[in-house]
Amino acid sequence: MNDHAPAESWRLRADIDLDALRANVRTLRERAAGAAQLMAVVKADGYGHGLLASARAAREAGAAWLGTATPDEALALRAAGDTGPLLCWLWTPGGPWRRAVEAGVDVSVSGPWALNELTSAARAAGRTARAHLKADTGLGRNGCQPADWPDLVAAARAAEREGTVEVTGIWSHFACADEPGHPSIALQRAAFAEALATAARAGLDPEVRHFANSPATLTLPGAHYDLVRPGLAVYGLSPSPEIGTPADFGLRPVMTLRAWLASVKRVPGGHGVSYGHRYATPGETTLALVPAGYADGIPRHASGSGPVLVAGKWRTVAGRVAMDQFVVDLGGDSAAAGDEAVLFGPGDRGEPTAEDWARATGTIGYEIVTRIGHRVPRHYHGETGKPTESAESAS
Ligand SMILES: *Cc1c(COP(=O)(O)O)cnc(C)c1O
Repeated sequence: MNDHAPAESWRLRADIDLDALRANVRTLRERAAGAAQLMAVVKADGYGHGLLASARAAREAGAAWLGTATPDEALALRAAGDTGPLLCWLWTPGGPWRRAVEAGVDVSVSGPWALNELTSAARAAGRTARAHLKADTGLGRNGCQPADWPDLVAAARAAEREGTVEVTGIWSHFACADEPGHPSIALQRAAFAEALATAARAGLDPEVRHFANSPATLTLPGAHYDLVRPGLAVYGLSPSPEIGTPADFGLRPVMTLRAWLASVKRVPGGHGVSYGHRYATPGETTLALVPAGYADGIPRHASGSGPVLVAGKWRTVAGRVAMDQFVVDLGGDSAAAGDEAVLFGPGDRGEPTAEDWARATGTIGYEIVTRIGHRVPRHYHGETGKPTESAESAS
């Protein structure tokens, strides 16, 4: 790889360090309590890192399971040749249940309507469907409420007897695992224990019970059960600065986002910069144009606050982020068109991190990496030679 501007001309690019992703998966596997296995969550295009490359690297590093939100994401993995245990959880009525059953994808069931659609699909496919029953232990999002849980597990057990469904998992999701000591954590754990006991009494004996997202994987070994289910930590980010930095957990950020300056010019003092003139040059200065904007996933909230490493120093987005570009004021320093501007990366070459962008824009690292859009080519490093979904594969 080239560390400076490569032979081809780049505007903006996301470098994806698959060696770091594999090392993160290994680190998280070592953290998993007892015999707990790891499900690498690769929803939302692998949190912006690329679905297929992330999934392959995670499997190579020993992720027994993969997890996606939508059925389409799971089916894309199957279409690309992934054959291992795979769960998808965000279903809506009329979803592709039959295709999931035929593809051997485990599906999440949170209520009777989903179980009904799943059993119909299994009968039509002539195959037993693999289902994870989801309990709402307090998140208040998806999942079955405690009052409805006995009926759901009884109906699932009946479907098992009929041969249409096998309950392969029972699971839930934390609301506040990124806030250690939050009172909801103990309450959710107690509710999950109760849901498991109810399921066992109904005769269910799932392969895996799972509860732990990244923060719970990192801080709550008692909630690891048979499988931990980290997403963000796989990509080397910490779910919350309060619980620690990536380095504190032995994790390394996987994505580096960089651009190459489109223009550098001297301007007089008092010059307005970008739409709305929210910035004016304090004196004669040098402005550099970074060809990255909100259509690429750069938050418009970074106007006047986003950090960028240009010409050896952190600069701040001057004025508004536009659709395709923003400006930084280099003050008395010099640079040239074509020089590199690093928006974020692991942070060990002096560049800002995704967490720095999250802080500057009032959001979380999750959103910073996930929103990097399709217009930004992913450039993979550390691939093992199999084809990827991107034309811009590692050189
Ligand atoms: C996104 C998601 C995860 C992974 O969460 P992280 O905080 O990124 O580790 C796990 N489980 C479910 C249900 C999710 O939606």
